[in-house]
Amino acid sequence: MKVFKTIASLQSYIQEQKENALSISIAPTMGALHEGHMTLIKASKRIADITICTIFVNPTQFNEQSDFDNYPITIEADKALLELNDTDVLFLPSANEMYPEGLDTKVNIDLEGMDNVMEGAHRPGHFEGVMEVIKRFLDIIEPNFLVMGQKDFQQFSIIQKMIDVLQLKTKLHIVPIKRRKSGLAMSSRNQRLSKEQIITATTINKSLKYAKRKLRIGDDIENVKAYVMKKLSAAGFRPEYVSIADTRTLEEITSMNNHKLVVISLAAWLGDVRLIDNVTV
Ligand code: AMP
Repeated sequence: MKVFKTIASLQSYIQEQKENALSISIAPTMGALHEGHMTLIKASKRIADITICTIFVNPTQFNEQSDFDNYPITIEADKALLELNDTDVLFLPSANEMYPEGLDTKVNIDLEGMDNVMEGAHRPGHFEGVMEVIKRFLDIIEPNFLVMGQKDFQQFSIIQKMIDVLQLKTKLHIVPIKRRKSGLAMSSRNQRLSKEQIITATTINKSLKYAKRKLRIGDDIENVKAYVMKKLSAAGFRPEYVSIADTRTLEEITSMNNHKLVVISLAAWLGDVRLIDNVTV
């Protein structure tokens, strides 16, 4: 696996690959890699000739300094996992390399409210930071494919919107959520949970699955949301939100009628760790 830390060195490598007519795919991550990230790498390897994983803990997408400060960093283990999965390239830029002119965000597009709901309603500025860093990676690499996970449902929806609005050539490829056997969605933040909390955290997926069953049989949307909030609180979480929204617009729905696909998503704190998950119905 080649490791590049500067844009210039990465671009000269990419140039060579493009001259050889090889297709390129990128899987952007913030590191502390796990099997969930590896499903991105595997998907990437299936659709493109060259797979580039980026590891960059993007400062502009953190709305809380403590979350940024506590974000797990495990570079040596990450490299080993990427090697094991035959990743072609790791791009590991510094904040200076990515933001030479400071941490201002410049991507400014009308997301038609998609950024004001769900995560966006609770993490001010988060999606501006996400769009900014992804746009910078797309500008630097100009990949054929961008691979992202369904785990961050709103994130990939907004990135798809950005690609559409800016008419970018890169095609977005989405990978389903990789879970532990217990149903817990794999996440870098799980590393900060105790053994007991890992067991408690399985309540998240259990309550999402319950909500899915209830929606399918026509239960009231508000009742279903209230049930999930109650279930999480009873298990010891501080739930932040439960959302039931149309997957296309991310607008909250009031009934299942006239919606092709709906996403139930939530964020909840367990101790000082914030976890998110979602299922589609
Ligand atoms: P992160 O490092 O958390 O920023 O995640 C990087 C990418 O990996 C994002 O596109 C995530 O949606 C994706 N990802 C993270 N966890 C999982 C998972 N359990 N299953 C599938 N994709 C995931």
